[in-house]
Amino acid sequence: MRGALAAVVASALLLGACTSDADQPEGSPSPAPSPSASSGAPAGVSTPVEDRVYPDVGDPGVDALHYDLSLTWAPDSRVLTGHEELRLRATEDADHLQLDLAGDLTVDAVTVDGEDADFEHDGKDLVVSHDVRADQRYRLVLDYHGTPQPVPAPTKRSDFNTTGWTTMPNGDVWTMQEPYGAYSWYAVNDQPSDKALYDITVRAPKPMVGVANGELVARRTIGGREMTRWRLDEPASSYLVTVAIGDLTVTGDRSASGVPMAYWTPRGRPALVDKLRRAPAGLAWLEDRLGPFPFDSLGFLIVDSESGMETQTLITLGDTGYATSPEVLVHEMAHQWYGDQVTPVDWRDVWMNEGMAMFLQGAWMAQDQGTSIESVMDTWATAEPELREQYGPPADYDPEAFGASNIYYGPALMWDELRKRLGDKEFWRLVRAWPAAHAYGNADYDDITSWWSDQTGQDLSGFFHDWLLGETSPPRS
Ligand SMILES: [Zn+2]
Repeated sequence: MRGALAAVVASALLLGACTSDADQPEGSPSPAPSPSASSGAPAGVSTPVEDRVYPDVGDPGVDALHYDLSLTWAPDSRVLTGHEELRLRATEDADHLQLDLAGDLTVDAVTVDGEDADFEHDGKDLVVSHDVRADQRYRLVLDYHGTPQPVPAPTKRSDFNTTGWTTMPNGDVWTMQEPYGAYSWYAVNDQPSDKALYDITVRAPKPMVGVANGELVARRTIGGREMTRWRLDEPASSYLVTVAIGDLTVTGDRSASGVPMAYWTPRGRPALVDKLRRAPAGLAWLEDRLGPFPFDSLGFLIVDSESGMETQTLITLGDTGYATSPEVLVHEMAHQWYGDQVTPVDWRDVWMNEGMAMFLQGAWMAQDQGTSIESVMDTWATAEPELREQYGPPADYDPEAFGASNIYYGPALMWDELRKRLGDKEFWRLVRAWPAAHAYGNADYDDITSWWSDQTGQDLSGFFHDWLLGETSPPRS
């Protein structure tokens, strides 16, 4: 997501595309969730919590394991028709399952384990009647349709005021949904602690094509409609899932380390592709510092938006000049480690994403400009006290000011202070080690701050408290 001080901030949200064009029979069953590479636990198993900042979204009674979404878009009528198959784990004994789904969408039918289920759909709360037992697994299937609308965003930023499904005047679609808003287009436990696997199939009339996260496993034309099937085989939080539909062309590239990279751009605008071809160099710079890219592929998507966002394996960027600048590309790619590979448990700790992405962006800018990290940080430090005053401490921010610059600059300065305190060698070793230590999972304030204390053998609790929870800016060394 992009910070509010446009001159110095980068955007933070990315989308996931890929270049594979392997074919697969339409209607073939999607695979069951596979074992997680990192933990040996079944992929998609999470420990859902109630969000401390936005408790009205998400329900900790549901642990979504795998979403299989089949979406058909009619751009003329603006009607989305969805068929969703959700494998989930109940986390407690209950007589219902609750998901988030916008009231703009009409639920036509729900089954649980093949049996028709009663449901109530009040506002965005979809409550399905079914007796469930803690730690038992269920298969919830629903059909729905309607005209999706974006969701009001709890923010004061100038570059966006809604999230979720966004339809352009020409019928094109894109989605950005941080901190929530996935529920504007499918039924979801829309809270970051509940990671799940995804298969997403999109159908739209040619020349439109649907783009989503992960690997493109099938693409074909059927009866004048373009069908694409995408598979995300590492678990993702709902805010890191996206879909876009438009008259897009794709070109392929490859990073120095061999990561397939896809550039999805509006047809007839090759200059945008040229800008994206600067991404592999940025990715190489990040891999030198953070380790191998943590996913199988990386895509970029350009849409008609003022803002941009990274999502897991796919980065969506507005077609403004700044959004496709090299420093923004670096910032958004950094989120693949800090945000996607390790994701905050809830929105209190969004600083974990933005602070490190900003710090890395600043380090890249310093090298690119032939200056020192300190001089970049000196510039950023001038604004930080006022941002803290206006929007609150980075880890205790105003809930109505989501994504304000206070969560970017203070934490970026904090990491630079820690770099100076520990020395470059030790600092960068730990910056690289943290994502791998919690790979494909979630973490919170206590997890990351105690980890740094343990790893360094220093009690850093006061240092982190002052920077993240202090009402006034700590002094810099
Ligand atoms: Zn960011």
